[in-house]
Amino acid sequence: MTRRLSRLSRSVAGKVVLITGAGSGMGRATALLFADEGAKVAVTDVDRDGVESVTAEISSAGGTALGVVLDVADPASIGAALKTVREGLGRIDVLVNNAGISVGAEIDDEEFDDRWQLALDVLLTPHQRLIRACLDDLIDCGEGRVINISSTEGLGASRSTTPYTVAKHGVIGLTRAMAIALAKHSITVNAVCPGPILTSMTQAIPAEHRDTFARRRTALRRYGDPEEVAHMVLNLALPSSSYVTGAVIAVDGGQTMKND
Ligand code: NAP
Repeated sequence: MTRRLSRLSRSVAGKVVLITGAGSGMGRATALLFADEGAKVAVTDVDRDGVESVTAEISSAGGTALGVVLDVADPASIGAALKTVREGLGRIDVLVNNAGISVGAEIDDEEFDDRWQLALDVLLTPHQRLIRACLDDLIDCGEGRVINISSTEGLGASRSTTPYTVAKHGVIGLTRAMAIALAKHSITVNAVCPGPILTSMTQAIPAEHRDTFARRRTALRRYGDPEEVAHMVLNLALPSSSYVTGAVIAVDGGQTMKND
């Protein structure tokens, strides 16, 4: 059969992808998916146990993974981790800024300033630090890809989550600014906004509250699986996604478009 429209690859095989917060949840699902697709995965997380278990999972399935402990809030940790990744895997073609925590605060909370700073330190500032630290690699590969994990909290706002909401809005602003700044290097920068996804971040919510929220607020009437977000991240990393940049893509079961 004659193949058409196949100038651009739909494969990440052989690419080196660095994922932050890859020890659990969506980061873990993304690491496993890229490895299944033949990418070499730098599995990074602040949690050493998570790093070791996901790295072992990939290796035992025949994939290529390098586990590195990386606290995204610590600039020294970023430098050391990137050195290890370059030594172990040679370069970085794809960066997935995924690591995150849940940081809420009431507006009259005495600790509001501290919560605000924590949200920016973990959820926003590291994204730009990592992009800048990986820049030479992303330029050298000729088709660098950055995928930033924001949230539906980056598109709207909820009660009691101001620090998190502001940081996630910031991730979208950063994505757009970096997409403009890095376009001259053919590097694409996109944001994924997950809705309610079943991970350790949402497991503390009682199951009945989760079900009620999902039925009322999402068109698909359910929580999403981490793997459903991972597939969107993979799509954005493909060479064939070369004309998608500065995009903000909700993976939310229809939460943000639903009016009734
Ligand atoms: P998760 O299962 O808790 O995974 C987050 C991972 O990031 C954990 O392994 C966590 O380690 C790690 N992490 C925390 N602080 C870190 C740091 N300073 N440096 C490096 N790693 C760090 O949660 P998830 O739901 O998959 O979250 C992934 C991303 O999706 C986050 O950015 C989150 O804000 C976003 N998100 C989640 C949802 C949802 O419904 N789950 C919705 C929208 C957006 P520890 O376990 O040790 O803290």
